[in-house]
Amino acid sequence: MSIAPIGILGGTFDPIHNGHLRLAQEALEQCGLSAVRFIPGGTPPHRDAPHAAAQHRLAMTELALQGNPAFVLDEREIHRTDPCYSVDTLASLRAEFGVQQPLCLLMGCDAFLHLHTWHEWKKLFGLAHIVVIQRAGGRPLGNAMNDSDADLRAEYQARLAPAPRALHEAPAGAILVVDMPALEISATSIRRRCAGNRSIRYLLPDSVFNYIQSNQLYTHADY
Ligand code: ATP
Repeated sequence: MSIAPIGILGGTFDPIHNGHLRLAQEALEQCGLSAVRFIPGGTPPHRDAPHAAAQHRLAMTELALQGNPAFVLDEREIHRTDPCYSVDTLASLRAEFGVQQPLCLLMGCDAFLHLHTWHEWKKLFGLAHIVVIQRAGGRPLGNAMNDSDADLRAEYQARLAPAPRALHEAPAGAILVVDMPALEISATSIRRRCAGNRSIRYLLPDSVFNYIQSNQLYTHADY
């Protein structure tokens, strides 16, 4: 069996920026993915709720993906106001794409090192592969794993795949680490720049830059 996997990138995308887009592009190329689905999260009613309303985050993500046919906007989480767990989102993707289709959950090293705190995290491996994107200059994941949770380390050691081919040969269950050049961009730093009246140009696509300007997003200094 060899089926091109579908990549999945969840995030608050508050706002989406070039770091997210490069991460997706690197995974697409290095792993031979057929597409990357961007899944902006909903707005749970707690203090870490996103800063921009769901409708704005959705519109910005849509603008950012324009012009790349391999990048797909997936709206399954954005309109939800209850907490949305990755395990449920992956189960719904699995139901939609069938049992054979390889699915790859994409995430940075920082997110992977906290995976053991996610709701029903061990079930994730039954639903998807995990592709960890390691940024140049950061602490290599292999080293960081030495200080990580023992359960997570055991899963990592048992599931680590030597090459992207493993992602095409099974629908779920492997962990692959891929490298990307570092782009020191975060949504937090973009929001801070906006609030401080500093330019955010060239940190995200022009279309998203224009959208933020016209809708006067992130102008309040509450970050
Ligand atoms: P915030 O600053 O609000 O926490 P963020 O910029 O980290 O936001 P998220 O929406 O939380 O964006 O991130 C979604 C995913 O994108 C995460 O897996 C995160 O590791 C990854 N990511 C974010 N910024 C970058 C970047 N500059 N390069 C590579 N990956 C990134």
